[in-house]
Amino acid sequence: PVSDQAFVTLATNDVYCQGALVLGQSLRNQRLTRKLVVLITPHVSSLLRVVLSRVFDEVIEVNLIDSADYIHLAFLNRPELGVTLTKLHCWTLTRYSKCVFLDADTLVLSNIDELFERGEFSAAPDPGWPDCFNSGVFVFQPSLETHGLLLQHATDHGSFDGADQGLLNSFFSSWSTADIHKHLPFIYNLSSNTAYTYSPAFKQFGSSAKVVHFLGSRKPWNYKYNPQTGSVLEEGSELVTQHQASFLKVWWGIYHGSILPLYE
Ligand code: UDP
Ligand code: MN
Repeated sequence: PVSDQAFVTLATNDVYCQGALVLGQSLRNQRLTRKLVVLITPHVSSLLRVVLSRVFDEVIEVNLIDSADYIHLAFLNRPELGVTLTKLHCWTLTRYSKCVFLDADTLVLSNIDELFERGEFSAAPDPGWPDCFNSGVFVFQPSLETHGLLLQHATDHGSFDGADQGLLNSFFSSWSTADIHKHLPFIYNLSSNTAYTYSPAFKQFGSSAKVVHFLGSRKPWNYKYNPQTGSVLEEGSELVTQHQASFLKVWWGIYHGSILPLYE
């Protein structure tokens, strides 16, 4: 095991904690060799903190309001960047030399230790605008200096999409041209709904997916699950593609089989 490297995620409320728990368990299911860290905020309930501590090595509360003055300032000047600035907190984890950040709405399907061979800042293209990276999965190097520069950038320039992805793309603006090694293959951040827009590519490459990202407004925990049949139920008339349904099944299988029992 490599104890100075970690997988890191973020959950600012009990709902996103469900995603973080499944993500953490999905990493544990793949011969975990790095530490597992979840950042939470004060809103997360004490029950969820206990459950998180059964899956993660470290549950770290970050509280923007109580943080150093410059964070406080950044937060007051740009309150809309709340969750975004919270994500940036991952750069303060300086007891780790290198980390992989994963959104709480991602799911790991096979071992991804090879990501630690990449340098900062590595990420996969965004399916909606491939000259930008998607900030749901990225390799970074904790550093208080970088953290400070990121916060400074946030207060000076804001974020063009109001969230972390816009901010990180304008900060790491050479990503799209400077170094191809920093472009993670799409299989490390496969958006669960992109399969629908380019289905021949999905047929060719989809089975090699290593990380699935349920990006967008409908998250796995918004669906219903029938544990008897193992099927995920759609709500309303929304179309769920076959690939999407199979990824949702994996998510719910882990939630039902490994996470719910932790509440007992
Ligand atoms: N997040 C959170 N609480 C929120 C919204 C977001 O903890 O209320 C965290 C969580 O880790 C989430 C990430 O920020 O995965 C990015 O948000 P989201 O995944 O909803 O955005 P999308 O990937 O759909 O653009
Ligand atoms: Mn996401």
